[in-house]
Amino acid sequence: MLVENIAWARETAHADPQFFPGLAQGQSPKVLWIGCSDSRVPAEPVTNANPGDLFVHRNIANLFSPSDDNTVSVLEYAVRVLEVDHVIVCGHYGCGGVRASLLPLSNELPHVNRRIAPLCALGDRHRKELDACADLDARANRLAELNVLEQVRLLRQSAIVCDRDTPPLVHGWIFGLSDGLIKVLSSGYDDEPARDTRRASQADMLEAVELADR
Ligand SMILES: [Zn+2]
Repeated sequence: MLVENIAWARETAHADPQFFPGLAQGQSPKVLWIGCSDSRVPAEPVTNANPGDLFVHRNIANLFSPSDDNTVSVLEYAVRVLEVDHVIVCGHYGCGGVRASLLPLSNELPHVNRRIAPLCALGDRHRKELDACADLDARANRLAELNVLEQVRLLRQSAIVCDRDTPPLVHGWIFGLSDGLIKVLSSGYDDEPARDTRRASQADMLEAVELADR
């Protein structure tokens, strides 16, 4: 991996001699990305973004827990200091954390169990719909979608987001492992009275968060 780093650094500097001097001057990302720790869903490659484009927080099952200082400190810094315009929650189909919340919890994983407890509760709240799914995979995928929407809801009502004069837009996305494509579950322009003046079309939204329009 270190050899790969040297190769990457050399190639990048060769392609753009100003790239690293620019990085060293500071960061001004427009987007906070909250995603899953899953190795198959890295934020930058799947959005064709560069270093400097995304402020990233990842944890098991892309959860926003208001009581978790790790997650909340990232949000606080992104919103109040970096002044990001967008917060993207990106879940993914085939999520192991979501799937685990639908199965008997393992005694070997007390920390994971605590982390996914809100997912278990969310699954219970949607038990009827989930039970109607064909199998465990389908249930887990539907719960992954519901989970993204729940995190979006929690973020939109968090004081850090709401208290800013111009709140960042919160988007809910889900990534497909089988085709590499992202589906928008909730755009930041959804019906919310506080944001009526900030409506824009889906195309505008996609343009705004086109992080690496190169
Ligand atoms: Zn996952």
